[in-house]
Amino acid sequence: MKSDAVTVLDRCDQLAKLSCSEEGIERVYLSAEHRACNQLVAEWAQQAELTCWEDAAGNFCTRLEGAEPGLPAVVLGSHLDTVPNAGRYDGILGVMVALCVVERFKCRQQPLPFALEVVGFGDEEGTRFGTALFGSFAFAGHWEPQWWELEDSAGVSLRQAFLDYGLDPAAIQTAARKASDLLGYLEVHIEQGPVLEAEQRALGVVTAIAGARRFQLGVSGQAGHAGTTPYTLRHDALCAASQMVLAVEALAQQGECVATVGQMAVRPGAVNVIPGEATFSIDIRSERDAQRDEVWDSIVARLEHIATERGVTLSIEETHRASAQACSESLQQAIAEGIRRSGDEQPRFLFSGAGHDAMAIGKLTDVGMMFVRCEKGISHHPAEAVTEEDVSIAIDALEHSVLVLAERYAART
Ligand SMILES: [Zn+2]
Repeated sequence: MKSDAVTVLDRCDQLAKLSCSEEGIERVYLSAEHRACNQLVAEWAQQAELTCWEDAAGNFCTRLEGAEPGLPAVVLGSHLDTVPNAGRYDGILGVMVALCVVERFKCRQQPLPFALEVVGFGDEEGTRFGTALFGSFAFAGHWEPQWWELEDSAGVSLRQAFLDYGLDPAAIQTAARKASDLLGYLEVHIEQGPVLEAEQRALGVVTAIAGARRFQLGVSGQAGHAGTTPYTLRHDALCAASQMVLAVEALAQQGECVATVGQMAVRPGAVNVIPGEATFSIDIRSERDAQRDEVWDSIVARLEHIATERGVTLSIEETHRASAQACSESLQQAIAEGIRRSGDEQPRFLFSGAGHDAMAIGKLTDVGMMFVRCEKGISHHPAEAVTEEDVSIAIDALEHSVLVLAERYAART
């Protein structure tokens, strides 16, 4: 008989074939592949005699009732959509591990004191319409009416895509769940970073999902002849910007944030001309908004100082701001205990620098996340890889986490 981990990995392989591109994996929201994916996952759930449905936002859903019908539910899930040229585990692994755990509970004689649900969100990546988390925002009841007019690259509006898929835009509110029907949300996801691998751990407990702020900066100096202008008379925009980039790195590191300059452009960009203009981006993230904002303020002060010293002017525009989503203390502890019972005595707690469905679901109910080690921290790439052993431990740990919640819940009621 196949082990559960092999079944989960096989299922990830089968879903990887549901792609709009022959080359790599690409499965976007409300596409033919999205439908095929939900149907295949529903077949697996139905083989285990679980009830399945697709909600009004195209999310795959299944539910195992607890000791009596209609009890509030613990929801397990992640997303089933992908970026272009994706790997096969980002999001998908979490849904498959969740389904496997629900199948295990289905086989047990002893029912849980709550219902257990699995959700495979239809859109987390936001690849098709440029805005992420449609599936989980619909589930959380935070749908924004202005989204209907967003268009994909072929000019198809989100409203039309709903109709083409066979969904009724007017029914979107029925995808929203009531907080009183839920006890919390647990998501398993590949780490998408190198920390667990470096520390030789299979799993980690997520403390929070970082909220990013992004900025576009401009440095204006004075262009001039590269041969005739002495240093004392230069206002080199690129030299100033370079000093700023290193200051961003140093201050973020001191403040225990991550800040990255990912784009930079120089004008006029000629080999024999002193740069007159430099523009660059900054992305800064932390598990706590206050810490991030404090570090950002110190960065601004230092950059302004550098600009004054070098006789250049600095402009700063904020282009994006998201709040961090803390994972609930009690769900962090349940996941940590699940990991302990699966063999790691001292679970590693770490924050997520990447966004997840749990950010949206956190607006509705308590959220907790478990990270699974992935090879070299690679994600959003065909080289994404996990080991069978780690998947096996993740299934056990999630099952134990649910049992911890059941013990607590039974003790309380
Ligand atoms: Zn993901």
